[in-house]
Amino acid sequence: MTLHGDPATLATLDSRVTAWVRERLRGTGVGTVGDPGRLVDLIDGAISDAGAGLDDAWQTFTQVVAPNNVGLDSSRFLAFVPCSPSASAVWMDAVVGAANFSAESWLEAAGAVAAEEQVLALLASAAGMPAGAGGCFMSGGSIGNLSALAVARERAGGRSKVVVADTAHASVANALHLLGLQPLTVSTDDSCRLTGGAIRAAVGADDDIAAVVASAGSTNAGVVDDLAGCADVAAELGAWLHVDGAYGLAAMLLPELRHRFDGIERADSFIVDPHKWLFAPIGSCALIYRQPAAAAAVHTQHGPYIDALHPDDGLFNPSDLGYQLTRRASGLPLWFALAVHGVEAHRQAIRAGIRLARRMADALEAGEHTSLVLPPELGVVLFRRDGWGVAEWRLWAQATREAGVAFVAPTIHRGEPVGRLVFMHPATPDTIVGELLATLAHTLDT
Ligand SMILES: *Cc1c(COP(=O)(O)O)cnc(C)c1O
Repeated sequence: MTLHGDPATLATLDSRVTAWVRERLRGTGVGTVGDPGRLVDLIDGAISDAGAGLDDAWQTFTQVVAPNNVGLDSSRFLAFVPCSPSASAVWMDAVVGAANFSAESWLEAAGAVAAEEQVLALLASAAGMPAGAGGCFMSGGSIGNLSALAVARERAGGRSKVVVADTAHASVANALHLLGLQPLTVSTDDSCRLTGGAIRAAVGADDDIAAVVASAGSTNAGVVDDLAGCADVAAELGAWLHVDGAYGLAAMLLPELRHRFDGIERADSFIVDPHKWLFAPIGSCALIYRQPAAAAAVHTQHGPYIDALHPDDGLFNPSDLGYQLTRRASGLPLWFALAVHGVEAHRQAIRAGIRLARRMADALEAGEHTSLVLPPELGVVLFRRDGWGVAEWRLWAQATREAGVAFVAPTIHRGEPVGRLVFMHPATPDTIVGELLATLAHTLDT
């Protein structure tokens, strides 16, 4: 069997892979990861000079590699931020892997880039961005935030501080560190929102503010900041407004929730991760700028062989607008799912998570030993259980996973250990509410 030889010699691989994907799409459990040391031993020797051949290699994959991962795509995965890709998006992702459209430029992949631009235009329009707004897909929110903040820094004329909320995602702090910018951390209010008033109070007469970063759905609590207030202050300060909507901004597509995101139309840049609440597979962030030319001035790569990518046609390549050159067409899976099922089907899938989060919240509020930390704004529910501290929450998470009820992970909210649930998968059964309540009913022996 040669590396690029007759594909017929790998014929049984086609059917094995197709069967594996089909099975996965029928639904998966929350899974578990084995002991890392043991796995390293189990996989030892899988790569050899001569190669193990298809049967052995596939067996190592199916017996060792695949089973030792948690299922973020399980309908019972309610921890961190899950990933609940649609079947259409998963199959198109497989095509993207096979085709290797090199989606950094129009020159190489005009078809793929045109399709991605359709999705970006849909998001820019939902946000109310002006004509001329545009952007690109990146591999995830962290690289999206970094790319946008690099442009903000360039625009800041030497100013060095960036307003961030105490709820900002960790990737924002990392991006600022990489860019040599200093965070000016502003406390969120009682409902965990960053407000214009709090920024004004914290900034005072400081004229060294380069940018304001707000969240459209904080990761821990799912709270949308006061984007309009943040936009007002950013305008007063002459600072860039970046909105990190990696998790929650997908919900702006819902007309009934659009008002929660008022102010997004005044952002200089924003991100939303299709691999979170837009049901695309892992590896996708939509990054949008009010004025893409500002981003192109920062990110366009030049060099003897790269300049061929820049014909004088006035079009921006995706790689001109973010920090990735060679890039998977990571917007195509979402484009395909939107083309197949329509936008409304995606709205309905988002609504399913919000509805379940509200039902869970109502049940927790009504419970004898449980209460809400905050009413859920999107799909995240933060709650308390009387008498429980770090140890009890850890036991709860373990017991709930082991019982097969759900993969859950507690968190810390303002120093207090609390329960956290994230509802996203449209196939999560309604019975989960009662099942989870039962896990909270009894006292845990620590
Ligand atoms: C998940 C998340 C990120 C990071 O995105 P990745 O795709 O994991 O790199 C950034 N910001 C927020 C608000 C997030 O929820």
